[in-house]
Amino acid sequence: MPADQPAYKRILLKLSGEALMGDDAFGINRATIVRMVGEIAEVTHMGVQVAVVIGGGNIFRGVAGGAVGMDRATADYMGMLATVMNALALADAMDKQGLVARVMSAIAIEQVVEPYVRPKALQYLEEGKVVVFAAGTGNPFFTTDTAAALRGAEIGAELVLKATKVDGVYNADPKLHAGATRYARISFDDAMAQNLGIMDATAFALCRDQKLPLKVFSIFKHGALRRVVMGEDEGTLVHV
Ligand code: UDP
Repeated sequence: MPADQPAYKRILLKLSGEALMGDDAFGINRATIVRMVGEIAEVTHMGVQVAVVIGGGNIFRGVAGGAVGMDRATADYMGMLATVMNALALADAMDKQGLVARVMSAIAIEQVVEPYVRPKALQYLEEGKVVVFAAGTGNPFFTTDTAAALRGAEIGAELVLKATKVDGVYNADPKLHAGATRYARISFDDAMAQNLGIMDATAFALCRDQKLPLKVFSIFKHGALRRVVMGEDEGTLVHV
């Protein structure tokens, strides 16, 4: 019998910048963001505390050509600033759908958004606000996947959710192999041994070391986020 209570009290949702693009080539697709926020609102209304780490690929890869030959750290700061733009768009869409969103940036940019302060973030979550973490870890040479693992560990999230276009981790590329099967669960060690490339190595190691389970699921599949939160067989659970 399916449970009627969410399986998790607090989750950290990692959305890539690409997830905001929809079918566009770059930038932010309004209809996509509105739909995604609808899914987030659904689980928030179930009483689940939701924190989001947002990527920047949709904006940053658009300017990456111009960044060729640039100092890596400088280009990475550009990437982090791109995530701040996405965070503003996401928070705006959340406010429009009746959620209370707070953007917290890992890089001081106080006229625009408040800085990340852990106790404050925890307070917001307890109050039922959605916290959107912007500017990744605040450090170059990292990714927003690593920011998701880091913030997930810091706020005591019970699950890190990695939203992708595919509805889980498969034993082969499902677009190329009709017989590919989805793993319902896989251990961190097996995923590493099979080189499944679920997250970058730093993010993956952090989740594993902190015993922070990871769920890979499709944000484009209607109701998938709710099913994950209800503990149903959706996506792939990566466990210790
Ligand atoms: N970035 C960074 N440090 C971080 C997070 C992000 O330097 O802690 C930069 C990096 O250049 C990266 C860009 O921001 O390419 C956008 O982040 P990411 O690629 O993780 O976004 P996504 O692919 O999830 O949209």
